[in-house]
Amino acid sequence: MTKEGFTTTNIHSDRKDKPEHGVLHKPIHTSVAYNYEDSRHLAEVFQGKRSGYNYGRQLNPTVTALQERVNKMEQGLATVAFATGMAAIASSVFSLLKAGDHIVSSTFLFGNTNSLFGSFQRLGIEITFVDATDVANVEHALQDNTRLVFVETVANPVTQITDLEPIGALCKKHKLIYCVDNTMTTPYLFVPKTIGASLVVNSLTKYIGGHGNALGGSITDTGLYDWSSFPNIYDTYKKGDPRLWGITQIKKKGLRDFGATLGPEAAHHLAVGSETLPLRMEKACSNALQLAQFCSNSSKISKVYYPGLPSHPQHERAKKMFKNFGAIFSIDLNDDVNCFDFLNRLNCVVCSSNLGDVRTLAIPVAHTIYYEMGAERRASMGIADSMIRFSIGIEDTEDLLNDFQQALT
Ligand SMILES: *Cc1c(COP(=O)(O)O)cnc(C)c1O
Repeated sequence: MTKEGFTTTNIHSDRKDKPEHGVLHKPIHTSVAYNYEDSRHLAEVFQGKRSGYNYGRQLNPTVTALQERVNKMEQGLATVAFATGMAAIASSVFSLLKAGDHIVSSTFLFGNTNSLFGSFQRLGIEITFVDATDVANVEHALQDNTRLVFVETVANPVTQITDLEPIGALCKKHKLIYCVDNTMTTPYLFVPKTIGASLVVNSLTKYIGGHGNALGGSITDTGLYDWSSFPNIYDTYKKGDPRLWGITQIKKKGLRDFGATLGPEAAHHLAVGSETLPLRMEKACSNALQLAQFCSNSSKISKVYYPGLPSHPQHERAKKMFKNFGAIFSIDLNDDVNCFDFLNRLNCVVCSSNLGDVRTLAIPVAHTIYYEMGAERRASMGIADSMIRFSIGIEDTEDLLNDFQQALT
Protein backbone atom coordinates (compact mmCIF):
# COMPACT_ATOMS: atom_id res chain seq x y z
CA MET A 1 0.00 0.00 0.00
CA THR A 2 1.30 3.48 -0.81
CA LYS A 3 1.75 5.85 2.09
CA GLU A 4 -1.26 8.12 2.60
CA GLY A 5 -0.94 11.88 2.74
CA PHE A 6 -1.24 14.09 5.81
CA THR A 7 -4.94 14.91 5.39
CA THR A 8 -6.18 11.46 4.35
CA THR A 9 -4.49 9.81 7.31
CA ASN A 10 -5.87 12.36 9.74
CA ILE A 11 -9.51 12.50 8.61
CA HIS A 12 -9.90 8.72 8.43
CA SER A 13 -8.05 7.89 11.64
CA ASP A 14 -11.07 7.57 13.97
CA ARG A 15 -12.96 5.30 11.56
CA LYS A 16 -9.97 3.04 11.10
CA ASP A 17 -9.91 2.37 14.84
CA LYS A 18 -13.37 0.78 14.36
CA PRO A 19 -15.40 2.69 16.97
CA GLU A 20 -18.70 1.21 18.12
CA HIS A 21 -21.74 1.19 15.73
CA GLY A 22 -19.50 2.14 12.80
CA VAL A 23 -19.59 5.82 13.76
CA LEU A 24 -17.13 8.00 11.85
CA HIS A 25 -16.05 10.13 14.80
CA LYS A 26 -14.53 8.78 17.96
CA PRO A 27 -17.36 9.22 20.53
CA ILE A 28 -17.02 11.64 23.45
CA HIS A 29 -16.48 9.27 26.35
CA THR A 30 -17.40 10.98 29.60
CA SER A 31 -16.89 8.13 32.06
CA VAL A 32 -14.21 8.88 34.63
CA ALA A 33 -13.85 5.30 35.85
CA TYR A 34 -13.60 1.91 34.14
CA ASN A 35 -14.83 -1.51 35.10
CA TYR A 36 -13.21 -4.89 34.41
CA GLU A 37 -15.17 -8.12 34.64
CA ASP A 38 -12.09 -9.87 35.97
CA SER A 39 -10.69 -7.89 38.89
CA ARG A 40 -7.26 -9.32 38.13
CA HIS A 41 -7.30 -7.33 34.88
CA LEU A 42 -7.80 -4.07 36.77
CA ALA A 43 -4.83 -4.94 38.96
CA GLU A 44 -2.73 -5.71 35.88
CA VAL A 45 -3.67 -2.35 34.33
CA PHE A 46 -2.49 -0.59 37.49
CA GLN A 47 0.73 -2.57 37.44
CA GLY A 48 1.40 -1.70 33.80
CA LYS A 49 1.22 -5.38 32.77
CA ARG A 50 -1.91 -4.91 30.66
CA SER A 51 -2.94 -1.92 28.59
CA GLY A 52 -6.26 -0.37 29.53
CA TYR A 53 -8.00 2.51 31.23
CA ASN A 54 -8.07 2.94 34.97
CA TYR A 55 -9.05 6.53 35.77
CA GLY A 56 -9.92 9.58 33.68
CA ARG A 57 -7.13 11.76 35.05
CA GLN A 58 -4.62 9.56 33.25
CA LEU A 59 -6.39 8.26 30.19
CA ASN A 60 -9.65 8.59 28.27
CA PRO A 61 -10.52 6.95 24.92
CA THR A 62 -11.54 10.23 23.22
CA VAL A 63 -8.28 11.83 24.32
CA THR A 64 -6.30 8.77 23.24
CA ALA A 65 -7.73 9.11 19.72
CA LEU A 66 -6.59 12.76 19.58
CA GLN A 67 -3.15 11.82 20.88
CA GLU A 68 -2.87 9.25 18.12
CA ARG A 69 -3.76 11.86 15.49
CA VAL A 70 -1.15 14.34 16.74
CA ASN A 71 1.39 11.55 17.03
CA LYS A 72 0.90 10.60 13.38
CA MET A 73 1.13 14.23 12.27
CA GLU A 74 4.42 14.61 14.20
CA GLN A 75 5.69 11.17 13.09
CA GLY A 76 6.27 10.53 16.78
CA LEU A 77 6.85 7.54 19.00
CA ALA A 78 4.18 8.58 21.53
CA THR A 79 2.12 11.68 22.28
CA VAL A 80 0.45 12.80 25.49
CA ALA A 81 -2.28 15.46 25.51
CA PHE A 82 -2.77 18.05 28.24
CA ALA A 83 -5.39 20.58 29.29
CA THR A 84 -3.49 23.43 27.59
CA GLY A 85 -0.22 24.10 25.80
CA MET A 86 1.14 25.62 29.01
CA ALA A 87 0.18 22.46 30.93
CA ALA A 88 2.14 20.44 28.37
CA ILE A 89 5.29 22.57 28.76
CA ALA A 90 5.00 22.87 32.56
CA SER A 91 4.39 19.14 33.02
CA SER A 92 7.33 18.13 30.84
CA VAL A 93 9.90 20.38 32.46
CA PHE A 94 8.55 19.61 35.94
CA SER A 95 8.67 15.85 35.24
CA LEU A 96 12.14 15.70 33.74
CA LEU A 97 14.25 18.28 35.58
CA LYS A 98 15.20 18.92 39.17
CA ALA A 99 16.85 21.64 41.23
CA GLY A 100 20.44 22.14 40.13
CA ASP A 101 19.74 21.31 36.47
CA HIS A 102 20.25 23.90 33.75
CA ILE A 103 18.12 24.83 30.72
CA VAL A 104 19.28 26.84 27.73
CA SER A 105 16.23 28.59 26.34
CA SER A 106 15.58 30.87 23.42
CA THR A 107 15.08 34.40 24.69
CA PHE A 108 12.42 34.92 22.02
CA LEU A 109 9.73 33.07 23.88
CA PHE A 110 5.95 32.93 24.20
CA GLY A 111 5.18 35.30 27.13
CA ASN A 112 3.66 32.72 29.47
CA THR A 113 6.48 30.24 28.83
CA ASN A 114 8.87 33.02 29.82
CA SER A 115 6.89 33.56 33.02
CA LEU A 116 6.76 29.79 33.71
CA PHE A 117 10.53 29.53 33.33
CA GLY A 118 10.84 32.32 35.90
CA SER A 119 8.92 30.08 38.33
CA PHE A 120 11.26 27.18 37.61
CA GLN A 121 14.21 29.45 38.39
CA ARG A 122 12.69 30.06 41.83
CA LEU A 123 12.53 26.29 42.31
CA GLY A 124 16.27 26.02 41.70
CA ILE A 125 16.43 25.21 38.00
CA GLU A 126 18.99 27.42 36.28
CA ILE A 127 17.97 28.98 32.97
CA THR A 128 20.12 30.87 30.47
CA PHE A 129 18.22 32.82 27.81
CA VAL A 130 20.04 33.17 24.50
CA ASP A 131 19.40 34.41 20.98
CA ALA A 132 18.71 31.00 19.44
CA THR A 133 18.72 32.25 15.87
CA ASP A 134 22.43 31.36 16.01
CA VAL A 135 23.59 27.97 17.32
CA ALA A 136 26.84 29.56 18.55
CA ASN A 137 24.91 31.37 21.30
CA VAL A 138 23.37 28.09 22.48
CA GLU A 139 26.73 26.30 22.43
CA HIS A 140 28.36 29.13 24.38
CA ALA A 141 25.71 28.84 27.12
CA LEU A 142 26.11 25.09 27.73
CA GLN A 143 27.24 24.01 31.21
CA ASP A 144 28.07 20.67 32.80
CA ASN A 145 24.57 20.59 34.34
CA THR A 146 22.69 21.50 31.14
CA ARG A 147 19.94 18.95 30.53
CA LEU A 148 17.55 20.58 28.08
CA VAL A 149 17.45 23.13 25.26
CA PHE A 150 14.09 24.82 24.66
CA VAL A 151 13.23 26.72 21.47
CA GLU A 152 10.23 27.75 19.39
CA THR A 153 10.24 27.28 15.62
CA VAL A 154 9.01 30.79 14.82
CA ALA A 155 9.01 33.21 17.74
CA ASN A 156 6.17 35.49 18.51
CA PRO A 157 5.69 38.44 17.87
CA VAL A 158 8.93 39.36 16.02
CA THR A 159 8.98 36.09 14.00
CA GLN A 160 12.65 35.20 14.59
CA ILE A 161 13.41 31.70 13.32
CA THR A 162 15.52 29.41 15.45
CA ASP A 163 18.73 27.88 14.08
CA LEU A 164 16.80 24.61 14.24
CA GLU A 165 19.01 22.08 12.49
CA PRO A 166 22.44 22.97 13.95
CA ILE A 167 20.96 23.12 17.47
CA GLY A 168 19.62 19.62 16.86
CA ALA A 169 23.11 18.41 16.02
CA LEU A 170 24.54 20.17 19.08
CA CYS A 171 21.98 18.55 21.40
CA LYS A 172 22.70 15.14 19.91
CA LYS A 173 26.43 15.60 20.47
CA HIS A 174 25.95 16.61 24.12
CA LYS A 175 23.05 14.18 24.82
CA LEU A 176 20.68 17.03 25.69
CA ILE A 177 16.90 16.91 25.46
CA TYR A 178 15.93 19.14 22.54
CA CYS A 179 12.43 20.49 23.14
CA VAL A 180 10.89 22.32 20.18
CA ASP A 181 7.63 24.27 20.47
CA ASN A 182 6.02 23.72 17.04
CA THR A 183 2.85 25.72 17.73
CA MET A 184 3.51 28.44 15.14
CA THR A 185 4.42 26.10 12.31
CA THR A 186 2.32 23.04 13.21
CA PRO A 187 3.32 19.60 11.92
CA TYR A 188 1.78 20.55 8.57
CA LEU A 189 4.48 23.15 7.85
CA PHE A 190 7.33 21.53 9.75
CA VAL A 191 8.12 18.25 11.52
CA PRO A 192 10.76 18.95 14.23
CA LYS A 193 11.73 15.27 14.34
CA THR A 194 13.46 15.84 10.99
CA ILE A 195 15.99 18.19 12.64
CA GLY A 196 16.62 16.04 15.70
CA ALA A 197 14.01 17.24 18.20
CA SER A 198 13.55 14.94 21.21
CA LEU A 199 10.25 16.41 22.40
CA VAL A 200 7.76 18.47 20.41
CA VAL A 201 5.26 20.84 22.03
CA ASN A 202 2.03 21.85 20.33
CA SER A 203 -0.57 24.19 21.72
CA LEU A 204 -3.59 22.44 20.19
CA THR A 205 -5.60 25.54 21.10
CA LYS A 206 -4.03 27.35 18.16
CA TYR A 207 -3.84 26.07 14.56
CA ILE A 208 -4.46 22.38 15.18
CA GLY A 209 -7.86 23.03 16.80
CA GLY A 210 -8.10 26.10 14.64
CA HIS A 211 -11.38 27.68 15.70
CA GLY A 212 -10.69 29.23 19.10
CA ASN A 213 -13.30 27.01 20.76
CA ALA A 214 -11.22 24.57 22.85
CA LEU A 215 -7.98 24.59 24.85
CA GLY A 216 -5.43 21.79 24.65
CA GLY A 217 -1.75 20.97 24.41
CA SER A 218 0.48 18.03 23.59
CA ILE A 219 3.96 16.63 23.99
CA THR A 220 5.30 14.24 21.39
CA ASP A 221 8.34 12.07 22.03
CA THR A 222 10.00 11.65 18.64
CA GLY A 223 11.85 8.51 19.77
CA LEU A 224 15.24 10.07 19.00
CA TYR A 225 16.42 10.71 22.56
CA ASP A 226 18.20 7.96 24.48
CA TRP A 227 16.52 8.04 27.90
CA SER A 228 18.73 5.26 29.23
CA SER A 229 21.54 7.82 29.60
CA PHE A 230 19.34 10.51 31.20
CA PRO A 231 20.06 10.85 34.93
CA ASN A 232 16.59 11.98 36.09
CA ILE A 233 14.44 8.95 35.27
CA TYR A 234 12.84 7.54 38.43
CA ASP A 235 13.79 3.90 39.06
CA THR A 236 10.13 2.81 38.84
CA TYR A 237 9.94 4.00 35.20
CA LYS A 238 13.15 2.26 34.12
CA LYS A 239 11.21 -0.73 32.83
CA GLY A 240 10.62 -2.08 29.35
CA ASP A 241 11.61 -0.19 26.18
CA PRO A 242 13.95 2.69 27.22
CA ARG A 243 12.59 4.81 24.38
CA LEU A 244 9.33 5.11 26.39
CA TRP A 245 10.87 6.04 29.74
CA GLY A 246 10.74 9.79 29.18
CA ILE A 247 7.14 10.02 27.95
CA THR A 248 6.01 7.59 30.66
CA GLN A 249 7.51 9.82 33.33
CA ILE A 250 5.88 12.90 31.75
CA LYS A 251 2.52 11.09 31.72
CA LYS A 252 2.80 9.82 35.31
CA LYS A 253 3.98 13.11 36.78
CA GLY A 254 2.12 15.52 34.49
CA LEU A 255 -1.25 13.78 34.31
CA ARG A 256 -1.48 11.42 37.24
CA ASP A 257 0.30 13.57 39.86
CA PHE A 258 -0.14 17.10 38.48
CA GLY A 259 -3.64 16.54 37.06
CA ALA A 260 -3.16 18.69 33.94
CA THR A 261 -5.64 16.50 32.06
CA LEU A 262 -7.43 17.32 28.81
CA GLY A 263 -11.20 16.76 28.93
CA PRO A 264 -12.99 14.56 26.36
CA GLU A 265 -15.25 17.35 24.99
CA ALA A 266 -12.26 19.57 24.25
CA ALA A 267 -10.44 16.61 22.72
CA HIS A 268 -13.38 16.08 20.36
CA HIS A 269 -13.42 19.75 19.25
CA LEU A 270 -9.66 19.70 18.69
CA ALA A 271 -9.79 16.44 16.71
CA VAL A 272 -12.53 17.72 14.40
CA GLY A 273 -10.71 21.03 13.98
CA SER A 274 -7.49 19.26 13.06
CA GLU A 275 -9.16 17.66 10.03
CA THR A 276 -8.94 20.90 8.06
CA LEU A 277 -5.48 21.99 9.29
CA PRO A 278 -3.78 21.78 5.86
CA LEU A 279 -6.58 23.69 4.09
CA ARG A 280 -6.67 26.39 6.75
CA MET A 281 -2.87 26.72 6.87
CA GLU A 282 -2.56 27.12 3.11
CA LYS A 283 -5.18 29.86 2.98
CA ALA A 284 -3.94 31.65 6.10
CA CYS A 285 -0.31 31.60 4.87
CA SER A 286 -1.36 32.91 1.47
CA ASN A 287 -3.40 35.71 3.09
CA ALA A 288 -0.51 36.53 5.43
CA LEU A 289 1.99 36.88 2.60
CA GLN A 290 -0.27 39.21 0.62
CA LEU A 291 -1.07 41.35 3.67
CA ALA A 292 2.58 41.50 4.74
CA GLN A 293 3.51 42.65 1.24
CA PHE A 294 0.75 45.25 1.37
CA CYS A 295 1.99 46.50 4.76
CA SER A 296 5.59 46.73 3.61
CA ASN A 297 4.43 49.17 0.91
CA SER A 298 2.44 51.36 3.33
CA SER A 299 3.85 54.75 4.32
CA LYS A 300 2.09 54.47 7.72
CA ILE A 301 4.05 51.38 8.74
CA SER A 302 7.74 51.59 9.62
CA LYS A 303 8.50 47.88 9.83
CA VAL A 304 6.98 44.51 8.91
CA TYR A 305 8.14 41.27 10.52
CA TYR A 306 7.22 38.27 8.35
CA PRO A 307 9.49 35.34 7.38
CA GLY A 308 7.94 35.30 3.89
CA LEU A 309 9.45 38.67 3.01
CA PRO A 310 12.95 38.51 1.46
CA SER A 311 13.99 41.32 3.86
CA HIS A 312 13.42 39.05 6.90
CA PRO A 313 16.78 38.09 8.45
CA GLN A 314 15.97 34.35 8.38
CA HIS A 315 13.95 34.31 5.15
CA GLU A 316 16.22 31.73 3.50
CA ARG A 317 16.14 29.49 6.56
CA ALA A 318 12.33 29.60 6.66
CA LYS A 319 12.18 28.79 2.96
CA LYS A 320 14.45 25.80 3.40
CA MET A 321 12.86 24.44 6.61
CA PHE A 322 9.13 25.08 6.31
CA LYS A 323 6.47 24.21 3.74
CA ASN A 324 5.19 27.80 3.99
CA PHE A 325 5.99 30.94 5.97
CA GLY A 326 3.24 30.80 8.57
CA ALA A 327 0.33 33.10 9.26
CA ILE A 328 1.70 35.37 11.99
CA PHE A 329 3.19 38.74 11.26
CA SER A 330 3.76 41.95 13.16
CA ILE A 331 4.13 45.58 12.24
CA ASP A 332 5.54 48.71 13.84
CA LEU A 333 3.30 51.67 13.10
CA ASN A 334 4.75 55.09 12.37
CA ASP A 335 4.89 57.47 15.34
CA ASP A 336 1.99 59.51 13.95
CA VAL A 337 -0.40 56.52 13.91
CA ASN A 338 -1.93 55.61 17.27
CA CYS A 339 -2.07 51.82 17.58
CA PHE A 340 -5.41 51.82 19.46
CA ASP A 341 -7.07 54.11 16.89
CA PHE A 342 -5.80 51.88 14.09
CA LEU A 343 -7.18 48.77 15.81
CA ASN A 344 -10.53 50.44 16.43
CA ARG A 345 -10.86 51.30 12.74
CA LEU A 346 -10.47 47.65 11.67
CA ASN A 347 -13.80 45.95 10.91
CA CYS A 348 -13.27 42.40 9.81
CA VAL A 349 -10.03 42.01 11.77
CA VAL A 350 -10.87 41.23 15.40
CA CYS A 351 -8.91 42.87 18.23
CA SER A 352 -8.19 39.84 20.41
CA SER A 353 -5.45 37.74 21.95
CA ASN A 354 -5.13 34.11 20.83
CA LEU A 355 -3.81 33.06 17.47
CA GLY A 356 -4.37 30.31 14.96
CA ASP A 357 -8.09 31.00 14.70
CA VAL A 358 -9.89 30.95 11.33
CA ARG A 359 -10.64 34.63 12.04
CA THR A 360 -7.94 37.26 11.63
CA LEU A 361 -6.93 38.58 15.05
CA ALA A 362 -4.83 41.62 15.98
CA ILE A 363 -3.34 42.71 19.30
CA PRO A 364 -1.16 45.60 20.56
CA VAL A 365 1.50 43.35 22.14
CA ALA A 366 3.39 45.77 24.43
CA HIS A 367 0.12 46.83 26.09
CA THR A 368 -1.33 43.35 26.53
CA ILE A 369 0.36 39.95 26.25
CA TYR A 370 3.88 41.32 26.85
CA TYR A 371 2.84 44.02 29.35
CA GLU A 372 3.79 42.10 32.51
CA MET A 373 7.26 41.42 31.14
CA GLY A 374 8.26 45.08 31.51
CA ALA A 375 9.88 47.59 29.15
CA GLU A 376 13.44 46.33 29.51
CA ARG A 377 12.77 42.70 28.57
CA ARG A 378 10.43 43.87 25.79
CA ALA A 379 13.20 46.02 24.36
CA SER A 380 15.61 43.06 24.49
CA MET A 381 13.06 41.04 22.50
CA GLY A 382 12.66 43.78 19.90
CA ILE A 383 9.08 44.66 20.88
CA ALA A 384 8.20 48.31 20.22
CA ASP A 385 5.31 50.12 21.96
CA SER A 386 3.53 50.59 18.62
CA MET A 387 3.85 46.95 17.57
CA ILE A 388 0.73 45.09 16.46
CA ARG A 389 0.69 41.33 15.97
CA PHE A 390 -1.65 39.76 13.46
CA SER A 391 -2.76 36.17 13.38
CA ILE A 392 -4.10 35.94 9.88
CA GLY A 393 -7.21 33.87 9.26
CA ILE A 394 -8.90 32.36 6.25
CA GLU A 395 -11.20 35.25 5.25
CA ASP A 396 -11.41 36.23 1.58
CA THR A 397 -8.14 37.97 0.74
CA GLU A 398 -9.78 41.06 -0.82
CA ASP A 399 -11.81 41.73 2.33
CA LEU A 400 -8.70 41.69 4.49
CA LEU A 401 -6.74 43.90 2.10
CA ASN A 402 -9.63 46.39 1.97
CA ASP A 403 -9.92 46.42 5.76
CA PHE A 404 -6.19 47.14 6.21
CA GLN A 405 -6.38 49.83 3.52
CA GLN A 406 -9.31 51.71 5.07
CA ALA A 407 -7.92 51.43 8.61
CA LEU A 408 -4.61 52.95 7.52
CA THR A 409 -6.15 55.95 5.69
C1 LIG B 1 -0.34 29.70 22.94
C2 LIG B 1 1.00 29.15 23.00
C3 LIG B 1 1.38 28.30 24.04
C4 LIG B 1 0.46 27.95 25.17
O1 LIG B 1 -0.68 27.30 24.73
P1 LIG B 1 -2.09 27.35 25.54
O2 LIG B 1 -2.88 26.28 24.89
O3 LIG B 1 -2.66 28.73 25.35
O4 LIG B 1 -1.78 27.09 26.96
C5 LIG B 1 2.66 27.80 24.04
N1 LIG B 1 3.54 28.11 23.06
C6 LIG B 1 3.21 28.94 22.05
C7 LIG B 1 4.23 29.24 21.01
C8 LIG B 1 1.94 29.48 21.98
O5 LIG B 1 1.62 30.29 20.98
